[in-house]
Amino acid sequence: MSEKLSFVSPTANSPWGTYLSQVDRVVPYLGPLARWVETLKRPKRALIVDVPIEMDDGTIAHFEGYRVQHNMSRGPGKGGVRFHPDVTLEEVMALSAWMTIKTAAVNLPYGGAKGGIRVDPKKLSLQELEKITRRYTSEIGIIIGPHTDIPAPDVNTNGQIMAWMMDTYSMNTGGTATGVVTGKPLHLGGSLGRVKATGRGVFVTGREAARRLGMDLRGARIAVQGFGNVGSVAAELFAEAGAKIVAVQDHTGTIVNTNGLDLATLIPIANKEGVIAFKGGDVVPNEAFWDTACDILIPAALEGQITAERAQKTTAKLVLEGANGPTVPTADDILAERGVLVVPDVICNAGGVTVSYFEWVQDFSSFFWDEDEINVRLDRIMMNALNQIWDTADKHKITLRTATYAVACERILTARQERGLYP
Ligand code: GLU
Repeated sequence: MSEKLSFVSPTANSPWGTYLSQVDRVVPYLGPLARWVETLKRPKRALIVDVPIEMDDGTIAHFEGYRVQHNMSRGPGKGGVRFHPDVTLEEVMALSAWMTIKTAAVNLPYGGAKGGIRVDPKKLSLQELEKITRRYTSEIGIIIGPHTDIPAPDVNTNGQIMAWMMDTYSMNTGGTATGVVTGKPLHLGGSLGRVKATGRGVFVTGREAARRLGMDLRGARIAVQGFGNVGSVAAELFAEAGAKIVAVQDHTGTIVNTNGLDLATLIPIANKEGVIAFKGGDVVPNEAFWDTACDILIPAALEGQITAERAQKTTAKLVLEGANGPTVPTADDILAERGVLVVPDVICNAGGVTVSYFEWVQDFSSFFWDEDEINVRLDRIMMNALNQIWDTADKHKITLRTATYAVACERILTARQERGLYP
């Protein structure tokens, strides 16, 4: 009976289209809860805001901002804010929905939300960046809050931006509401371990997946797409475990070194100028990244990167989705047919939101944990979630992605059913 949404036109491989087909695949495993599945196919609430700022040259510029609360059945909305020139409502909807699945998969007491501004932050001065952040926060201030919806960093946003968001929300509400955002700087209620948490989670789930595949990490060849907070941290941890990082791609280009890239030199250069400024590897065309011989592939950039064609040619035996939505559905099928194991985004990169949850809990209790405690708890949550998902996958003979959706959707839809429809 439900009508299709009128405000997006998803295609098979677009982010929202990808998400919808992932939900369709889980329906046979939901039993009577399938009655509620339509609730996952539309956001609870979506806000589009105009973000006008005065630029340094005196002109007024307008940007489009979004905050989408996909589902709040299990708790407040949770999810990052992305600043990128290609951000659209449809993309933010998909990202918010993946947060719903992710928080449920690791059993955090949250729903899913996401936000973004359609802007290239690299073209803004620091002052313009602060203005756009503050005006956006004011505009979405009517729906965010420490108990309703808690933003965090995502692509091109960081601790400084979270500090401005926290301050703007606090100025508008009259207190100091540290719990309104996570990923804050340490002295503003941030948590130890948060910056590295997503990359660490990719490593922890990847190490376990490699163990189950009988793949030795010592000498394993790894290709990493996206060398920001997620890709570079995961690469470092895998290199410490003895793996060789043979290819890295970021927005500046692609570098390859079959003997392994020297990360200690590469990372500071990549952070400043991008990977192609590094001299210890060969610069190759971007498409050649997908041809690089590797055992593990870590997409840690944007959505839709693993297409059918790239899935067909990769030599990887294991794909660790550090990014959200990097694999399109047709590619997912090809990887499964080819026996390539995919640890899906909604568990693989859940380390970030897990430590965001720790940060939020610490803010409310005003009692802060040491880094060992954070990491021990993070590893335990990730391993428990992954083991449960693996058991579900074995039981039904389904991919880890569909198994993660099965575990997560059961939690979400049980909560939905128990709450009931009101009014
Ligand atoms: N942006 C991150 C993600 O996609 C973290 C979100 C959060 O910490 O709330 O999972």
